[in-house]
Amino acid sequence: MSYLFPPTIPSVPIVGRSERFPVNRVYCVGRNYEDHAKEMGFTGREPPFFFLKPANTLVVVNAGETGQMPYPTLTSNLHHEIELVAAIGKGGKGIKAADALAHVFGYAVGLDMTRRDLQGDMKKQGRPWCIGKAFEHSAPIGPIVPAEQAGDVLNAQIALQVNGKDRQRSTVSKLIWNLAETIEHLSAAWELQAGDLIYTGTPEGVGAVVSGDLMVGSVAGLPDLRIQVV
Ligand code: MN
Repeated sequence: MSYLFPPTIPSVPIVGRSERFPVNRVYCVGRNYEDHAKEMGFTGREPPFFFLKPANTLVVVNAGETGQMPYPTLTSNLHHEIELVAAIGKGGKGIKAADALAHVFGYAVGLDMTRRDLQGDMKKQGRPWCIGKAFEHSAPIGPIVPAEQAGDVLNAQIALQVNGKDRQRSTVSKLIWNLAETIEHLSAAWELQAGDLIYTGTPEGVGAVVSGDLMVGSVAGLPDLRIQVV
C-alpha cells in the first residue's frame, strides 16, 4: 500500500512502556464540575454533553519536558481548562457504568484550551463550538499512566498553576458525572474504540493565558503537564 502523502498517526507516550498509545478520537465532556458550570452561568445536574477535537489537535508533552503551544489566531481570550484524561483501551457500545472502568487503559493530564470569545459568539448564535474548541494545539496532553499504576486518580487533587500561581484546584471526585457514568453515556451515543481519549471536564477557575505564560497542570499520581504559550 502507498499513500499520496505521509499519513499522520497521533500518539501519546505510555509511562514504563516502549509502545505508544495511538489516538483515535478525542471526546470532551462539557461543564462537568458544579462550580465550573456555575461560573459559566449554569446550575444543576444537566445530562452530560460532549464535543470532539480532532486527534491532530493534541500537543504531546513528555514527562519532565516543557511543551510549547502557539497562541492561536482570531482570539483575545484563550482559556485554560485542566482536565483528567481517560485513555480507552477496549472499545464497546452500550457499556454500563458498573463495567466501564475495565475499558480504561490509563490516565493522563490534559488541557482543553478554549478560544472563549469565539465559543461565546457561537453559543449566542446557537452554532457549533468547533472554532472555539477544536483548533490546532488546543489539546495539550502528558504521558499516559496505565490504570494499575495510576493510583486513585478518580479521587485525586487536580490543579493548574500559571507562572507558579494557582488558577484551578479541586478534586476529581467532584465531577458531576463520574468517569464510569460518562463512559455509559458516551457509549450509548458512539461505539467507543480503543485509542479514544476522554477529556473529563474542568473544575472552576478557568481563565485567560497570554503569550509567555507557563502552565503546569497536575493530577496527583500522574506526571505533571508543563506547557508554555508562545
Ligand atoms: Mn473542557
